[in-house]
Amino acid sequence: MSGPISSSAPAAPPKRRLFVTTALPYANGSFHIGHIMEYIQADIWVRFQRMQGHQVHFVCADDAHGAPIMLKAESEGITPKQLVNRIAAERPKYLEGFHIDFDHWHSTDSPENTELSQDIYRRLRDDAKLTYSKSVEQFYDPVKNMFLADRYIKGECPKCGAKDQFGDACEVCGAVYAPTDLINPYSTLSGAKPVMKSSDHFFFKLSDPKCVAFLRDWALDGKLQPQVANKAREWLEGEGPDGKKSALGDWDISRDAPYFGIEIPDAPGKYFYVWLDAPVGYLASLKSYFDSGKARAKGETRSFAEFMAAEDTEQIHFIGKDIIYFHTLFWPAMLKFAGTPYKVPNRVYVHGFITVSGEKMSKSRGTGLDPLRYLDAAKMNPEWLRYYIAAKLNANVEDVDFNPDDFVARVNSDLVGKYINIASRCAGFVTKKFAGKLLAAESALLRETQSAASAIGALYEAREFGKALREIMQLADGINQFVDQAKPWDMAKDPAQQEALHRICSEAINLFRLLTIYLKPTIPHLAGEVASFLNVPSLSWADAGTLLPAGHTIQSYKHLMQRVDPKQLDTLFDMPTTPASAATAAPTNVPKDEAAKKTAQSASPADTSGQNAHISIDDFTKIDLRIARIIDAKHVEGADKLVQLTLDIGEVVDGQPKPRNVFAGIKSAYDPAKLIGKMTVMVANLAPRKMKFGLSEGMVLAASDTTGTSPGLYLLEPDEGAQPGMRVK
Ligand SMILES: [Zn+2]
Repeated sequence: MSGPISSSAPAAPPKRRLFVTTALPYANGSFHIGHIMEYIQADIWVRFQRMQGHQVHFVCADDAHGAPIMLKAESEGITPKQLVNRIAAERPKYLEGFHIDFDHWHSTDSPENTELSQDIYRRLRDDAKLTYSKSVEQFYDPVKNMFLADRYIKGECPKCGAKDQFGDACEVCGAVYAPTDLINPYSTLSGAKPVMKSSDHFFFKLSDPKCVAFLRDWALDGKLQPQVANKAREWLEGEGPDGKKSALGDWDISRDAPYFGIEIPDAPGKYFYVWLDAPVGYLASLKSYFDSGKARAKGETRSFAEFMAAEDTEQIHFIGKDIIYFHTLFWPAMLKFAGTPYKVPNRVYVHGFITVSGEKMSKSRGTGLDPLRYLDAAKMNPEWLRYYIAAKLNANVEDVDFNPDDFVARVNSDLVGKYINIASRCAGFVTKKFAGKLLAAESALLRETQSAASAIGALYEAREFGKALREIMQLADGINQFVDQAKPWDMAKDPAQQEALHRICSEAINLFRLLTIYLKPTIPHLAGEVASFLNVPSLSWADAGTLLPAGHTIQSYKHLMQRVDPKQLDTLFDMPTTPASAATAAPTNVPKDEAAKKTAQSASPADTSGQNAHISIDDFTKIDLRIARIIDAKHVEGADKLVQLTLDIGEVVDGQPKPRNVFAGIKSAYDPAKLIGKMTVMVANLAPRKMKFGLSEGMVLAASDTTGTSPGLYLLEPDEGAQPGMRVK
């Protein structure tokens, strides 16, 4: 028989109209594996919805505003826009590389976002009356002429006296305090002593009873995952600092110039705090997608405003667990009280973090699993990672661990050993012996495999990807047993069994096709190659209700997927991490006019990664590292980043101590006066460099975090007892 054999499928449900986003990545650095995991999760879900025939608009954007981007651009001697554009330019190679199929990628630094953020604000101010302004006292950096966020203030802990503690909590004794409690506070941007200064700030009145009542309804009605709803309940029903029920405080939504952001209407010199305009960026990206005609080209006939106002539009956000607060309180409240056409999110799907071999990721350094290195240096198949991550994901807010051995085992034994194996054992007989033509197939195993479509579909819908893949692999086990028992390779040798061979292989090819439909959201490119091999148009979920008809001709089988070679994981993880972090620390000693050189320096460790990730011990010993005592440190007139250091490394010339002069780009992190007497490590045989301010005779080593949320610079310091001039090796 041919054609559909399953007639029990219910009538197609009405099309859903979905607007799906992932969290906007902050545009001060490249994607790390945490971003890629989130995009893979959302992309699998979106592809599944599209296979159902639902309409999905899947968009994202760079989160471009805020102080960290402004300061990072300044440190590189470029404008924030230049920095954001540079980061945006590298996004496609990651997204295309991992087969992540956004419809549109935009930026929060865009006319659409300015328009929508200001519109939402005006509605909150004028219609909902949920904003107000009041004077706020805050630390101000008199050198940088800017107000300081808590993370840019350090000082001594008021409780235990530990030095260099951040403005909110002590890392030594765990005390929590306000930045104003710090003893001898200083700005990490300039080293200057901050002064208290007052300024008018704008607030969103989250504590308003109508906000609290709305959020209770919205957040606690069962739409959120249980763990997320519990968090929201704590915030909504817990005791606030004032002892009142509901811990919700009002939200400070303004920042003073200089700030890279969107101006607040009717308030010159005031900007929206980046967390106000960042989520509006979801809508700005969607608007740009509609206005550019791209939505129309994909069959959307309505305008942005019509789509947003439609009853059946579903707005769905995929986010990480670190930004629940913004997405379950501020964002829905902003949208609710801004009113039509804005609508509150239908779902916020929260995932955990990704760890690598149990090690937590740091925002600035990633995990050591560098997505580009995965693709380029290790030459690994992106669909291995998609499959592996999907196999580990469920609908809960749980962390996912990337374990290299587990990765090899799952990809090689499941994806290649179970799934691909079915085609590779049977397809050759069909093409060689039967000119590629299939017989009609019909069996209990086929019916069972077809009827799994709805259960597997329900698991994809619920984001229980791990369970879905386990179901599919169980089916693959059953199919492999069927092939093992039939032994087509023996049948092929027996002239009396040719028809049976033809029937078995036709059935196996049909079973392989069904598994391909079920795996397609996870491994879309491989599914595309299988569709070409099977000589069928693109596979939809409903196609699981049909089988290939008698006489259908398949293409000759070419190997579809390689196994993971464990050597590739060696390449992936065998990063020259120590040289690389030394090199990223090194450029902080390079002044602004050497920016080009800086890029070349920090790029070089990655360049060596292609074929030979190692350096020899001889290469390492070429670097003469010495313990140095900082005997003097001072500001450099006219240099906004440099500190002039006088370093004793035990050198004596003509019987006289001969200290080194080094200009180090550490002014943002250190008050020169506090450096005197400290010990550190210097590169003693770096070619001296003539600089505007004098000759620099080496370089001190510092760890740096210029891209993360806790930027800073940390000079290396040897253990007690080390003496100036000692060799470091
Ligand atoms: Zn302390």
